[in-house]
Amino acid sequence: MHKGISVSPGVVVGVAFRVDSVFGTGEPQTLAGPGLIPAEIERFEHAITTSASELETFVFKVAQQLGPSEAEIFKTHLQIVNDHAMQAKVRSLIETKNYTALSALQIVLQGYAASFARIEQDYLRERLADLRDVFSRIGSHLTVQAPVATALGHDPRDGEEPVILVATEILPSQAMSLGSLPIAGIVTEAGGGTSHAAILARSRGIPAVSGVTGITTEVRSGDTIIVDGREGLVLVRPTNDELSSYRKLQREFFDLKDRLVLNRDQPAVSADGAQIELLANINNVADAQAAVKVGASGVGLFRTEYLFLSHTDVPDEEEQYQHYRQIIEDAPNRAVTIRTLDLGGDKTVAYLGRRDEANPFMGWRSIRLSFEHPRMFERQIRAILRAGRHGKVSMLFPMITTLEELRHVNRLVEESRRNLRREGVPFGDDVKTGVMIEVPAAAICIDAILRETDFISIGSNDLIQYLVAADRDNPKVAHLCEPLSPAIFRVLKMVLDACQRTGTPVTVCGEMAGQPRSVLTLFGLGLRRFSMSPAFVPTIKALLGAVTIAQAERFAHQVLQLKTSEEIRAYLTGRLHEVSSLLEVFDSA
Ligand code: PEP
Ligand code: MG
Repeated sequence: MHKGISVSPGVVVGVAFRVDSVFGTGEPQTLAGPGLIPAEIERFEHAITTSASELETFVFKVAQQLGPSEAEIFKTHLQIVNDHAMQAKVRSLIETKNYTALSALQIVLQGYAASFARIEQDYLRERLADLRDVFSRIGSHLTVQAPVATALGHDPRDGEEPVILVATEILPSQAMSLGSLPIAGIVTEAGGGTSHAAILARSRGIPAVSGVTGITTEVRSGDTIIVDGREGLVLVRPTNDELSSYRKLQREFFDLKDRLVLNRDQPAVSADGAQIELLANINNVADAQAAVKVGASGVGLFRTEYLFLSHTDVPDEEEQYQHYRQIIEDAPNRAVTIRTLDLGGDKTVAYLGRRDEANPFMGWRSIRLSFEHPRMFERQIRAILRAGRHGKVSMLFPMITTLEELRHVNRLVEESRRNLRREGVPFGDDVKTGVMIEVPAAAICIDAILRETDFISIGSNDLIQYLVAADRDNPKVAHLCEPLSPAIFRVLKMVLDACQRTGTPVTVCGEMAGQPRSVLTLFGLGLRRFSMSPAFVPTIKALLGAVTIAQAERFAHQVLQLKTSEEIRAYLTGRLHEVSSLLEVFDSA
């Protein structure tokens, strides 16, 4: 039995599938027989051709869109992909050792890394980062879809046992391609409650546990494993007793989920009739449709970076407009808050140039990156304004830190409106603009910000990591990234009170907006707009339907008196049990 961090609730028993990445360090995987060697070499060659043609496109488009110096890096990458010596090494490992192409690639990369480690110069170390980039690109064409079927010996689409992914970490690119597969659980070594694995799991409503050290060396594809997302436990090759008791829990969990979703057409109101808005966080069109199915009343956060992540270059204005329009048309009540690009941190795209930063979450990410690419930013603002004609659309700016940044962004929006008007291009004339409060500096200066924005959305995932100075994806410090803590609730109260005083609409769109114990407190602090992964909407509707304002205010008042996270957790666990013991399974440990 392994203990990790519970990042998405629920219980599932299934068969493991290991998603290996080119950066993995586990045992190399061999092919089932030498007869498979020619096909594996062909797969490798295909991955090389595809990578080379992607890079050729980059060299051309990036030079055009961002300038020639940004494109230089891809010329180097192209040379690495086309390097015959590297290709020969990989081929030879497949032929002589029977290794899969991915394992062969891994071994060649490790060989290069070992020789680079002996070199001191920074310049050459930079080249290692380029090598890793290129190998990861080639590797991405060798992973995921096809091997799931081969490794399990059947297509999981019609297999009986649910598939549970086991990985060192889930990269953003993988999170997207995995999105279409029937996965029932996720276990990762890296990552915390807001990593890609967590967000993918939560958006699918499947259990997930992260921070499980050593799991990829212990688990083989095909092993039976149990994921307990309530307690953060993973059981590998369980005993019959464990299997039968967890299968029972799994059945109860799925039955409850099925029953809860029947509340989709009921209004979201508290036990004493207060109106609540339950909105969805979405990344793509499928999520927008899922939001309708669970009865969300709109989209509170559309993360546009997923469009950029699935692209080989900056999507142009027309394509963005069409994509946003499609999302709006599919979203509940055509109400969508579109967040501008939030890349950087753990989400990078090659075409904006790679920066090796010591602390990417504290560095060149989000709105900072948009400011540095004004033409790209303008294209996105224009596309959102144009899409604004097709529904009730708002534009949300991530990671605003200072009032100067807010003023700058407001000026850019005004300028785009003026240009569209002058060009005679139709756009929505009632697109509201809002600020994400996710940097403590902005939370502290909330009064000043409220004077110059239409609405607020609190990004608690980032706000927490910046308040406690602990990387949200680092399992070693995950215990500090705890929403149920005195510092977080004090800051949230300050922001919510300021919004109430000024009558500014405010939403919480971080993961805590879908977590029962946090929700009870947030409701008690006066929050009425919650935005969460669609899968959590039915649970939160049921929960808030079971509590009155007076009750929740009492809980919040008490929480603010408590001094430690442990006390808050224990107190709220008791209150959740009182309000609805049935829903406890939807909270995480
Ligand atoms: C947040 O920070 O809380 C948030 C909702 O945004 P993201 O998780 O995309 O950073
Ligand atoms: Mg954020």
